[in-house]
Amino acid sequence: MKKLALILCLIFPFWVQAHVGGHYSQGDLMKIWHLQNGQHIEGNFAYGNAESIHLEQLHGKILTIPIHSLQKADQKIARMKIAKYESLHEFNVPFQLPISSKPNIPWLPWISILFISILGLHSLVPKKHLTWSSPIFMTALFISLIWACKTETTISPSSPTSPIVPTKTSISFLDSAFNPYKKTISTNYDDTYYYVNSNGIPEHNMMVGITSWQQQVPIPQPYSGNNHWSIPLKPVYEATPLSTKTNFMKGAVALAVNGIPIFNALNNRGEDSFVIGELDQWGGHCGRADDYHYHAAPLHLVATSGLKPIAFALDGFAVYGSKEPDGSTMKALDAYHGHEGSNSVYHYHGTADYPYVVGSMRGKVSTDPATPAPENQILPQAFTNSVRPALSALKGATITNFETLSATSYLLTYTLSAKKYTVKYSWVNNTFTFLFTDGDGKQSTETYTRK
Ligand SMILES: [Zn+2]
Ligand SMILES: [Zn+2]
Repeated sequence: MKKLALILCLIFPFWVQAHVGGHYSQGDLMKIWHLQNGQHIEGNFAYGNAESIHLEQLHGKILTIPIHSLQKADQKIARMKIAKYESLHEFNVPFQLPISSKPNIPWLPWISILFISILGLHSLVPKKHLTWSSPIFMTALFISLIWACKTETTISPSSPTSPIVPTKTSISFLDSAFNPYKKTISTNYDDTYYYVNSNGIPEHNMMVGITSWQQQVPIPQPYSGNNHWSIPLKPVYEATPLSTKTNFMKGAVALAVNGIPIFNALNNRGEDSFVIGELDQWGGHCGRADDYHYHAAPLHLVATSGLKPIAFALDGFAVYGSKEPDGSTMKALDAYHGHEGSNSVYHYHGTADYPYVVGSMRGKVSTDPATPAPENQILPQAFTNSVRPALSALKGATITNFETLSATSYLLTYTLSAKKYTVKYSWVNNTFTFLFTDGDGKQSTETYTRK
């Protein structure tokens, strides 16, 4: 009986830790932290450094939050707490402080438990046993106490891919997606964005198959230098994702890995561009600036990209083709046209049906305050200007051929009322010359310079 009591005393700390499992449990007061994306996180400051704070939540769960993702007022509180923490510890906390060496262990309750246990020993163990066993038991108890505390604090932090903690998309992952197209694009990056420079002309042919044509033709675009495409490296979930049915009618929503922007599936009149014949065989056409872009998913890129992403949405999440990244059949898509992958990171899928690429922008994006919904375009993104006045729809025209004549000239052929028309055009630097030949062979020339 006494031996049993001794064993109970010895394992007592483990029981306690098993039930407590952290410094806080239901009913304890937790600070509420406000994130810039509108989310609220409950947890008390445990430790932190210049980049992030580590919160302890209920039952010992540790959550890491980058300071920049907090709202301004909470950033201030976080910095105050870090300053206080550092002055107490007189050292700078390394960025990835091992959780097992986490400070703020509440020694007081454990010392009380140790004290009670020792008292228990003294009352239960016969004197002769105590003479040899007492130091051993006390040491064992002390070790068990240390072990219990360490166990408690090694509870793993929330998944590194948790949406609350923006994880950085690796540059090597982005490179692997864009590298196959380096003939026509170039890339670079900083801490915030992966940048893609392109002239807006894909390697594949264009324009053939369009039956609803606005008379625009593809010309090179200035998507480089400071006017590059920007893919956020740390995508963050949007609390209320904006639907592409009622948002982003202006500008791009994604960038294909060949450097061609992907616009909303709906045109600026709210019609499905693909369904009404505005798009070519590759899912693209030209805008008012003679800028080639897709409105449908460029699934043909799978031929080059394989299982790698075929695009990245401008919120930073990847867009895959019709298979999962491991080659398995595509899993069910959510209302935003994607889902979390096996790595717990969200991705979209390109499909042959509406909404083709992005149903709602799952990640947080900034929009141009000057353009309210539905024409709220995402910022930052590359821009272009028209080189010639916008043209109107040419009813009944069908583009039948598009030929590359040289590195700086194209020949577009279309039929209208059973007659063949052509637009032959070329450029030198920023000056574009168009030669129009109508169904009766009549010719006219126009020249424009991009400002
Ligand atoms: Zn368009
Ligand atoms: Zn998937």
